Order: sequence, then C-alpha cells, then structure tokens
Amino acid sequence: MRGTTPRRMQGMADPVLASMVHSMGRDQVPHYASRTEKVVAYTDRCVANAGLRDGPVNPQRVEVTDRSAMTARIKAKARELGADLVGICRLSPSMIDLGKEVPHEYVIAACVSEDYHKVLDGADAVEEEAMRVYAVVSDLSTDLAAYVRDLGYPAWAHHNGVREVQAIPVFYQVGFGELGRHGSLINEKYGADFRPGFVTTDLPLDEDQPREFGVQDFCTNCNVCMQNCPGDAIPKDHVMTDGIKRWLIDLEKCYPYSRLRDEYCHLCVDVCPYNVRSHRTTFKTFMKERKRMGYKTPTY
Ligand code: SF4
Ligand code: SF4
Repeated sequence: MRGTTPRRMQGMADPVLASMVHSMGRDQVPHYASRTEKVVAYTDRCVANAGLRDGPVNPQRVEVTDRSAMTARIKAKARELGADLVGICRLSPSMIDLGKEVPHEYVIAACVSEDYHKVLDGADAVEEEAMRVYAVVSDLSTDLAAYVRDLGYPAWAHHNGVREVQAIPVFYQVGFGELGRHGSLINEKYGADFRPGFVTTDLPLDEDQPREFGVQDFCTNCNVCMQNCPGDAIPKDHVMTDGIKRWLIDLEKCYPYSRLRDEYCHLCVDVCPYNVRSHRTTFKTFMKERKRMGYKTPTY
C-alpha cells in the first residue's frame, strides 16, 4: 500500500525551519545542537532499533480461528511490554508517508505515557523524559513486531528511529481520542502526554473505532494552551480537514521557542487541563507557578 500523506520534515530538512536557522547565520538547529548526553543516547537507541524492525517470519504459522482471542492476545502482549494505550485499525494510504510502501493490512498503535511530574523540574527534564519514552516505545514496538513474526505473520516496527506510519490519523482511528487546540491528540486519561510506537502486520485482528468524548467542544472555550504559549503560535480559529476540526499551529511563531533556542518547549501540552485527571496534585502545583508568572490557568 502506497502512502498519500506528506510528513512534516524535521530539523534542517524542514524548509521553514532551515530558512529561519540560516537567517540567524547558523547551519544547525540551535536546540538540537544543545541536546544533553542522555537525549543523544535515547535517540541513538531508537536508531539502533531501526535495524531490528523486520526479521524472519516463523514458517509454522499460528492459524487465526478466533480473531477476538488473537486481538486480546496481542493487546495483552503490548501491555506486558509496557504499553499504556493499545489500539488496532486497518491501515489506509492516508496513514502512510507520501510515496512510501507498507505491505500490510493492519496497524497496532502502542503508546507509553510520560512521567508528568517532570514538569516541576524544568524544560530539560521534560525533554529528557520525552526522549526516554521514545526510546522505550522503540524497544516495545520492535519486540511486539518480533512477537507477531514469531506467530507466523510479517510485521514491521515503526518508531522514532524508522517509520512510515503517521501517528495522528492512526490515533484517531483506533479511538485514543480527539485533536486538541494545541495540535496533539488528547486521551481522556493521559492528555497528550504519551509517545507512540506502531507495528504494521497482516495478522488478522479486530479493529477499534474512533471515539469522541467532548475534547473539541471543551477546547472551544478553554484556550489555556493558547494563552500559555510563549510564541502566540496557537490559533483561535479552526479549519476543517476531511471533516475533522483542527487548529493549525503557526510554526514560524512556534520555532523561536521550540527550536531556535537551547531550551525545549512542551508548554502547550503541559498546561492542558486534561492532565489534571491523572496528575491532580502536580498539575495544580505547576499551574500555580504559571499563574504567578501571569499566564491563564483553568478552573477545576
Ligand atoms: S511548543 Fe511552545 S511555542 Fe510551540 S505551540 Fe507549544 S507552547 Fe507554543
Ligand atoms: S489546553 Fe484547553 S484548549 Fe488547549 S488543548 Fe487542552 S483543553 Fe484544548
């Protein structure tokens, strides 16, 4: 199956970012140039896992006579490997990078939540946690793909080290949640504070369905991320794409805070009131400090 969705390029491959970096007289993205040793090590782990994404398929195939039992088995395995969220859907061209081939029918999304308490330790701690979880999900998806191949079905892992799968359309289709104003998908339990790994496969599985639980209505009146964004990059108005309401982040306003300085920026996700459901005490402590700094905070 050939993909139809362009991927937003990262680093100097992103023409908008590259032009902003060059206008500063630099040839490297400032934030990436200042990454800590831990962040570099986590990135290297994802890259190393890329070489293990595929492998031999067991010729002794386990025939699937009960799809829902096999689905339960795969989800249980993903959870045993550390996933907090697991969902499955049929792969479609819009879930794959433009022009890339993925020869499978299904995609399994397996996400791990971050330790939200890092928000109290500052931007570097939040970034290290994000990259730690990216490394964890690269291990998880690699191991899950190997498990599926051992059942006798082809399977590839997709994660930060190697991927053709686009996260947001898969998250939506498997019912993890709805797109929030800050541009990330919000789950009712984990907010947007989780990182994804994927496995594509031909193993026959039951599909999950999209779910709506009021996020977009809530965002319409909330605006906390918009009013906490240091770059004023989060819009008031939405657009409709394929029938789905989306708020498009203004990257030229976001990059000066998220890429063109040493410090990481994850504030739009960190201030989102959906975090209060799992992390009430930490969220209230964090937002008390934001309020002291003059930013909008939600009412609980
Ligand atoms: S990452 Fe920072 S600058 Fe960018 S949209 Fe989020 S809060 Fe704004
Ligand atoms: S902070 Fe408010 S407006 Fe922004 S994504 Fe979260 S719920 Fe939506």
